Amino acid sequence: MAAVTELTRADELRAFGDVVASCTKCALAGGRTQVVFGSGDPNSDLMFVGEAPGFHEDKQGIPFVGAAGKLLEQLLSGIGLTRDQVYIANVIMCRPPGNRDPMPEEIEACESHLWRQIELIRPRVVATLGNFATKLLSGRPTGITRVHGQEQETTLGGRRVLLYPIYHPAAALYTPRMLDVLKSDFARLPELLGREVAPPEPAFVAPVVTEPAVQLGLF
Ligand code: URA
Repeated sequence: MAAVTELTRADELRAFGDVVASCTKCALAGGRTQVVFGSGDPNSDLMFVGEAPGFHEDKQGIPFVGAAGKLLEQLLSGIGLTRDQVYIANVIMCRPPGNRDPMPEEIEACESHLWRQIELIRPRVVATLGNFATKLLSGRPTGITRVHGQEQETTLGGRRVLLYPIYHPAAALYTPRMLDVLKSDFARLPELLGREVAPPEPAFVAPVVTEPAVQLGLF
């Protein structure tokens, strides 16, 4: 009898990436070189979610390999990590033409790919880079300038995680003040990774209303 082999998280992620590689759910499929699926350690406790692939990512098929990616790597190195030790993904997986902002219908078409990656990776901390990822994953319209550096517990991919909004490295590339803020927000990541996150609240179950027990007479 053939042995039943259990799929590892990495196998499942690879299989899912293979499916997404031929996605045609939105018009960006027509202009891409390739789908840019997430990359890094499938077992990492720390996941980053950026916005969308740019020119270099589209060519290489890997998120954050351009200038913003170099800065992300430097910031990671500042807290003793490499990009291979974390998981990096984007809100949308195909490059918008001319690096324009993603459109609502593109985000809507692509978001299930991100949710599935979160479900498979099971991170403890999800750091959202910039406005698009922060708004999508928090489900709130509040912009990054107001919420950066403020962790919040939430449920993503069916599990409790710490959502941690920070500035997008591309925004900090040419703005030294923003880079300082990004560095100090980044410096809190090790502490957040060590934090216990409460298990999900049990679903509310309405009490069953029973008739008052009738004392049966013995005689
Ligand atoms: N910016 C992003 O948001 N994602 C990338 O992959 C590259 C640049």
